[in-house]
Amino acid sequence: MKEVCFSFEEYCDDLGPAKIVHVYDAACGMHGIVVIDNVACGPSIGGVRMTLDVSTQEVFRLARAMTLKNAVAGLAHGGGKAGIVADPRRPDKARIIRAFARAIRDLVEYTPGPDMGTDETSMGWIFNEIGRALGRPRVLGGIPLDEIGATGFGVAECAEVAAPFCNLNLQGATLAVEGFGNVGRHVAHFLEEKGVKLVAASDSHGTIYDPAGIPVAELAKVKTASGSVLEYSQGTKLKQADLFGLPCDILIPAARPDSIHKGNVNGIQAKLILQGANIPATPEIERQLHERHVLILPDFIANAGGVICAAVEYRGGTEKQAFEDIVQKIRHNTEAVLTRSHREGIPPREAGLILAHDRVREAMSFRTCE
Ligand code: NAD
Repeated sequence: MKEVCFSFEEYCDDLGPAKIVHVYDAACGMHGIVVIDNVACGPSIGGVRMTLDVSTQEVFRLARAMTLKNAVAGLAHGGGKAGIVADPRRPDKARIIRAFARAIRDLVEYTPGPDMGTDETSMGWIFNEIGRALGRPRVLGGIPLDEIGATGFGVAECAEVAAPFCNLNLQGATLAVEGFGNVGRHVAHFLEEKGVKLVAASDSHGTIYDPAGIPVAELAKVKTASGSVLEYSQGTKLKQADLFGLPCDILIPAARPDSIHKGNVNGIQAKLILQGANIPATPEIERQLHERHVLILPDFIANAGGVICAAVEYRGGTEKQAFEDIVQKIRHNTEAVLTRSHREGIPPREAGLILAHDRVREAMSFRTCE
């Protein structure tokens, strides 16, 4: 796919980006993109996305989300992100990821973690090449953040704090999840434990919908065995895009960028949207939802569980500490952002940005010469 040129005028500001690096390995056909956005708070950490259509703009927007997310979570880390332009199902995935790792060896202000198309095994390969990766398998001294569901766990904590702000009782509330992957599957599980009923889930093949409820463990078993939620034996099979118009109380985008857009935003019926995915909607779309009194929690607040876990791993901490930090930080930040949003009548993203920018700018103030 031909990439749209990165627009400096549109995206650059006083926060960043600090570096945009393209790396190639012609021998295996690897093309990687790394954006280090801002490192005032510390060395950057952020995931590696492996998709066929990942672009510089997408990686920049994701890196900026990491700058904000790490700052709001009070982590001593800046924001960075990477993309590898390749199909994650290709048989030589290990070769491509290893080539990418070798190519970023000297970019020491960036430590990779998992994202769409990569997982703990991928992090194991990167760690083996350059001794720098987070979300690694336990056997390599890591905390496998995808396997333990750190991000989904945090999104469910966020939901519990947010629900009273939109008069929602989680007990019996209905849930639709876009993307039944590492984030989507785990958030559905942790919300089910809080009394929420999964009624719809999608993946790259389509959407399964059953208003009677879908047991999360059963759907996960089907997805693992067959590769698709559509193989679930009950309910109705729909197209991917249909998920966004289904009746539900809670909607969790947990897959693609800009999945909520001007073509589907008016059809959304949920009262509460939690951004499990990064950049699933533009600020303009979020504002439209806010004006319709749909409560929408931005990515850098709702899905910070994974990077909070990675920051604990970075310092050699335990899984138990990681879960404790996720509970404390996500609950505190959700409450702070929603209280401010309610008091000032501004969308939650704007309330969160004030908090994030204050922290990043304070950290940047220590870098000036005078
Ligand atoms: P994943 O690769 O494990 O899962 C993605 C899922 O989305 C897969 O089931 C895939 O089939 C599905 N999918 C792909 N295209 C789709 C489409 N058009 N419609 C519906 N489903 C589709 O990825 P992940 O790690 O769960 O990441 C998902 C999102 O969450 C990304 O935006 C990522 O940046 C964000 N995120 C991930 C983490 C993490 O810890 N993994 C942390 C924070 C944010």
